[in-house]
Amino acid sequence: MADLERLSINQVTMRERWSLAEAISGLARHDIRGIAVWRDKLGELGVDEAARRLRGEGMTVTAFCVGGLLGVMDDTSFQERLDDNRRVIDQAAVIQAECVMMVAGGLPEGSRDLTSIRERCLEGLDALMPYAKQAGVTLALEPLHPMTAASRSCLTTLRQANDWYEQLGGGAELGIAVDVYHVWWDPDLERQISRAKDRIVAFHVSDWLMETVDLRLDRGMMGDGVIDIPHIRALVEKTGYTGLIEVEVFSERNWWQRDPDEAIGIIKQRFSDWV
Ligand code: ZN
Repeated sequence: MADLERLSINQVTMRERWSLAEAISGLARHDIRGIAVWRDKLGELGVDEAARRLRGEGMTVTAFCVGGLLGVMDDTSFQERLDDNRRVIDQAAVIQAECVMMVAGGLPEGSRDLTSIRERCLEGLDALMPYAKQAGVTLALEPLHPMTAASRSCLTTLRQANDWYEQLGGGAELGIAVDVYHVWWDPDLERQISRAKDRIVAFHVSDWLMETVDLRLDRGMMGDGVIDIPHIRALVEKTGYTGLIEVEVFSERNWWQRDPDEAIGIIKQRFSDWV
């Protein structure tokens, strides 16, 4: 169904086996021209050299991962976190990433105050938006599955992402990422995707395994789980989204163990059959 020209692969899918340099040349070898880049991997190569190689292979960088993690209450740490996010924005600008994937952040150790943490995250995003705007970088609000609310993201639904987008005043420096793994279960999905018209800047696919064994690191390959991906894709495209579709598979026990060339061959097939 899905056209392979729309395919981008998040390098996390091959993270155990390939450096960024290997991922760029490896994806190009498979005729794939979209990649999402992780910051720790960028560090191995250096931002300027990475930018040169990405451009050289004609790669579209569908995302730079990750910014945010703003769930800190004490002011010194919060300011440090904001500064670090400004460096993330600078790096995203150099590699011409279409957006920075913003993971909101979970509860600090010892805290039970999710409400205050959510306000803190909004405050942080608000502070970062002028910097992103001046850098020409888009911050993508990515709601994560509610099971990550304590550890990683107090932003858990598309409805909340839409609310935050509106509270923050929108603009080209802000967008929303729809990841089927995080939102497939939501009874309000259709309405919230439609509400996100002109806000969706990234669309991520993988699958939810019926017998999943890990909160973060056990995603399935498209077709192996229970998500109706073509249905969600149709909802996203109905809003006018025409960007690349990024395959993002965190899979410690399966896909991360595989030879990346083998995994990419399977991804291409599954993308055609199940996306
Ligand atoms: Zn994602």
